[in-house]
Amino acid sequence: MTRVLLKLSGEALGGADGRGLEPAGSASLCAEIAELVAAGRQLGIVVGGGNLVRGASLAEGGCDRVTADQIGTLGTIMNGLALAEQLRQHGVSCETFSSIAVDGVVEVFHRDRAVQALDAGKVCFFTGGTGNPLFTTDTAACLRAIEIGADLVLKATKVDGIYSADPAKDPNAKRFATLTFAEVLAQDLGVMDLPAICLCRDHNLPLVVYDMTTAGALARIVRGESVGTRVTVA
Ligand code: UDP
Repeated sequence: MTRVLLKLSGEALGGADGRGLEPAGSASLCAEIAELVAAGRQLGIVVGGGNLVRGASLAEGGCDRVTADQIGTLGTIMNGLALAEQLRQHGVSCETFSSIAVDGVVEVFHRDRAVQALDAGKVCFFTGGTGNPLFTTDTAACLRAIEIGADLVLKATKVDGIYSADPAKDPNAKRFATLTFAEVLAQDLGVMDLPAICLCRDHNLPLVVYDMTTAGALARIVRGESVGTRVTVA
């Protein structure tokens, strides 16, 4: 595996409650990313914005949904800038792109420039989601992964894979080691939103869902070891 797209929920950058920006909480993640890059892996990262604001929650409070999502999208740019800066302190070169223009702060996403940066050993952040309201950063992650020709999408969570039911609520919930995209859809497993799953299925892009709090998991997956749940076309 040479090129990987890592999807991090915004909560990965937050404090113990998953809110705000708390660099101490993402220090071990940065160290793992630095090791991967040093080992010659190419890494694109899409960060969500749930630690700052989610459009749907703002809309529940009465905000217009499109405006709410634009606010949520701006949060993802803030997160990308923050994590890129933290990674630089770990000696990793980064480039931050955005789907929406914020002149003087980030570069507008350009596929060829992103691939050049990855080939030069830089970690590329793809912020600003898909650039459209009513989507999520899961969909942005799968979209960018396909555009840059990634071998794999990694969805980092706080659970060690995909379960038949919520393991926090159902003691009989069973963890899957492997699944197909058709099974995820048929069983409505709620791994990622539908556009994201369909993009991976239609473009034959494998997905691994894993627990980012397990030390060394990222490196083991990229080495090809079976960690978390792997979802493939067949
Ligand atoms: N968002 C959007 N379009 C996108 C991606 C994100 O409008 O293509 C907005 C949306 O309001 C969303 C917020 O950005 O709630 C943060 O993204 P997301 O909820 O995916 O973050 P995560 O849950 O991964 O932290």
